[in-house]
Amino acid sequence: MATLTELKAHVQASIEARSPWLIDVAKTILAHPEAGFQEVKTAQLVSDKLHELGIAHDTGLALTGVKGLIRGGPPGPTVAVIGELDSLRVPGHPHADPETGAAHACGHHCQIGMLLGVAVALKALEGSPDLAGNVALMAVPAEEFIDVQYRWQLHQEGRLGLMAGKQELIRLGAFDDVDMAMMVHTASGSTENAKFALGGTSNGHVVKYVRFLGKSAHAGSAPHQGINALQAAMVALNALNAQRETLRNEDTIRLHGILTRGGTSVNAVPAEVRYEGRVRGRNAEVIADANMKMDRCLRAGALAMGAKVNIVTIPGYLPMLNNAPMLDCFQHNASALVGANQVVTHPATRNRGGSTDMGDLSQIMPVIHPYTTAATGMGHGADYLIADYVQAVINPAKAMAMTVLDLLAGAAAKAREVLATSKPLMSKQQYLALQEARLTEELYAGR
Ligand SMILES: [Zn+2]
Ligand SMILES: [Zn+2]
Repeated sequence: MATLTELKAHVQASIEARSPWLIDVAKTILAHPEAGFQEVKTAQLVSDKLHELGIAHDTGLALTGVKGLIRGGPPGPTVAVIGELDSLRVPGHPHADPETGAAHACGHHCQIGMLLGVAVALKALEGSPDLAGNVALMAVPAEEFIDVQYRWQLHQEGRLGLMAGKQELIRLGAFDDVDMAMMVHTASGSTENAKFALGGTSNGHVVKYVRFLGKSAHAGSAPHQGINALQAAMVALNALNAQRETLRNEDTIRLHGILTRGGTSVNAVPAEVRYEGRVRGRNAEVIADANMKMDRCLRAGALAMGAKVNIVTIPGYLPMLNNAPMLDCFQHNASALVGANQVVTHPATRNRGGSTDMGDLSQIMPVIHPYTTAATGMGHGADYLIADYVQAVINPAKAMAMTVLDLLAGAAAKAREVLATSKPLMSKQQYLALQEARLTEELYAGR
């Protein structure tokens, strides 16, 4: 049996030796961005690379997900290492696809590099007495909750149940054999000072798909015979803005959205206007309250103009809970790589304001979601670029591989301790029931 120190040295060396290969994978994905549930080429690349490494895997999970498995020697818990496949859509980003506007403005391409780095390192321990348990390698679809109309359509066609990647993988049972999970997300130097930033939490949310329905008529000769859906939307959004003074800072509510269709022809009264929106907040109760207010505003717009409004509320994400003992392991390993003064741990209550479906997973099993500071510019902005690929891909891969060793080496004592001391907030069944209850559709026809 090797010592933990020897094992950690070995995984670092094997990731180091594959550095150019891993960074090349990340850059290839950067050059071929694909938005959620459409990551066909990206998933194929992951599958090809796992094949090259000799790792058995399933594909097509939740449409595009890939899951490989490395079995240790003795039985033990299964730790999942996760990388997200999807891009955003940010036209104007230097690496945007000119046709689709898809762009990796959130650094997910680096997560796939990290995931394969962990695969490279731990594949060598397959069947080894030094690894008590299994490592699931999961490339997951659709973390960014965008293209809402498209996903609602997939849902209505029965091709998706829940409408984000990890949510749907939970529903489909892809995490049923997983006991705990980790991933590392890139961050920008504009928001973090240290090379690794750990801890904190995220907002939860619900997602809105809204259609204001009016009546078309000639905009010049007969506007009085139309019902203007765009004006209904504008009244609704003004009402929503008026509502903001009722929100409490400590609830970290964010109400925001985009108009995805403002009408059809400039010379006709707009008969249908579409709005995709978000209601974020620090917990399910405050989100439900803010969502009720948003619905009131949407109805008000329709009522004022004599229009109708169809409001679909889609279950979004739950807040992130980082598992403290796992975070301690990661903190230790990250410090060994970059120095303790380059690893900060934020208080568990520090809310970043954004949202992730890793939060959903964290409600049903122990999870960590650290950040690696490797980018410049603003997340989701046209200027978000990875400046340091070693810190974006190689160092987090090493830190995760070493953390898996902490958990599973020997007799997997650490992983068993994590499971014994961390009771999830809810079971998978409770999670699915909660999310199912948050899915509603209403057609408000005014009076
Ligand atoms: Zn993002
Ligand atoms: Zn992201």
